[in-house]
Amino acid sequence: MIDLQAGGAFRLLVYKFSRQPGSTKHIDRDALAPEDWGQELIKLPRGGLIVLDLTLEAVGEGILVTGTADCTLEGQCARCLTPFERPTEVTFQELFVYEGHAADDEDVSRVVAEIIDLEPVVRDAIVLDLPLAPLCEENCAGLCAECGANLNEEPDHSHGEKADARWAGLSDWVPSQSGE
Ligand SMILES: [Zn+2]
Ligand SMILES: [Zn+2]
Repeated sequence: MIDLQAGGAFRLLVYKFSRQPGSTKHIDRDALAPEDWGQELIKLPRGGLIVLDLTLEAVGEGILVTGTADCTLEGQCARCLTPFERPTEVTFQELFVYEGHAADDEDVSRVVAEIIDLEPVVRDAIVLDLPLAPLCEENCAGLCAECGANLNEEPDHSHGEKADARWAGLSDWVPSQSGE
């Protein structure tokens, strides 16, 4: 019922899809991220595989698309800077209003020339789900503030006397002030 040859894996050609309210169609589809989605610390990189599991349902004014997108994010831990990859799944739902149907909001998604373009919907679902401060693991111990050692790899890391070097520097400074 759905022509899978519509240009672009995010685009669904729906001219054969019944507009009878209640009609449903399930579609599994793979797509590739056309560009980096996200930001420096965490993103779905360009070319990353997105596995889409979609259900289309005809409703009165359009086609309601409900779906999940599975992909693997590339990130860098905000605490210890270690690169990591992490599978994720996001869900989304979007109503695509038929051409010619008035909509309350002019910003609604539309069926255009019998095509539904899922790219903005999938992109937003993935990008809005990204953490602001990605961590390699929830309890990441981060880096030593003194020397940058990874405290996940060296849980007993300590500088002992070296930590006192800061105070040694301060005591040098105090006499020079009092000497004026
Ligand atoms: Zn970390
Ligand atoms: Zn250290």
